[in-house]
Amino acid sequence: MNGNLKLAVQSKGRLTEKSLELLKHCGLDIEDYSERLFIPARNFPLDILFLRDDDIPEYVQDGVADVGIVGENIFLEKQSETKILEKLGFGRCSLLIAHPENKQLKDIKDIEGKTIATSYPVILNEFLKKNKIKAKVIELSGSVEIAPSLGVADLICDIVSSGNTLMMNKLKKSFKVFDSQAVLISSEKNSLPKEKNKILEDLLRRIRSVLIARNSKYLMMNVPKSSLDKIVKIIPSLKSPTVLPLADENLLAVHAVIPSDKFWTIVEDLKSAGASGILLLPIENMIK
Ligand code: ATP
Ligand code: MG
Repeated sequence: MNGNLKLAVQSKGRLTEKSLELLKHCGLDIEDYSERLFIPARNFPLDILFLRDDDIPEYVQDGVADVGIVGENIFLEKQSETKILEKLGFGRCSLLIAHPENKQLKDIKDIEGKTIATSYPVILNEFLKKNKIKAKVIELSGSVEIAPSLGVADLICDIVSSGNTLMMNKLKKSFKVFDSQAVLISSEKNSLPKEKNKILEDLLRRIRSVLIARNSKYLMMNVPKSSLDKIVKIIPSLKSPTVLPLADENLLAVHAVIPSDKFWTIVEDLKSAGASGILLLPIENMIK
């Protein structure tokens, strides 16, 4: 056993590529994924273990892996002794209750007495309890969406991102049970040796900086000197904007880091305040 931090990643599935991409953005030099169970990073004391996502919480709980990346849905469902260190912003999907197209389900109370097929009995039962609804939950390990047409269940509760599978099976969304995304988990009792903890802290710092950078953009524009105050008020800056002189004395260049999703809501205001040559650039990394 080496002293490397062991990170469990889904071996072949929806989270594999994005998990590896995140690690690469953190500056880790990782071989391309190639059906192997285990890959060390070349320039960082980290080994990646590839496992089925369902098994990751238990392996992290038992210390086979020190940390893991899984969907929050799996994290909650497995009820292992693990905790979330960071939400990772990818692998977004929702756990929904759906009903056959030709039936109606208007009020949440209409679920009462129905039979629901799901792979997430723990999360679903919790939801039913919270809403004071009694229903029969049938656990299926896969292909939940065909349960109503087989007559096995009235409703289903399953993970959906685009809704295509529902449509193909003549099902309609009704109620949202919970929104999920990929999360980084560690064992609840955090008993890592000092050296490994240091590696984990370094990794977390890198991950957090990549996540902030992903949600931020670098905004650049030219503004008339006279409207600088107005422009600065419009910019939802993460820190105060940089103002630079230009060859044309009536103009200034203004640079600022802004939350990505804010750009389209402010661009018209910037233009009417006299901004020109507006550029929006991606940021690769950002250290807070
Ligand atoms: P494994 O073979 O590792 O058990 P799996 O088939 O159980 O894989 P995937 O379908 O690859 O799992 O999904 C992995 C995770 O990706 C899910 O647990 C969920 O968090 C997330 N996810 C994102 N979008 C979707 C989607 N449309 N359907 C299912 N899961 C999704
Ligand atoms: Mg699975």
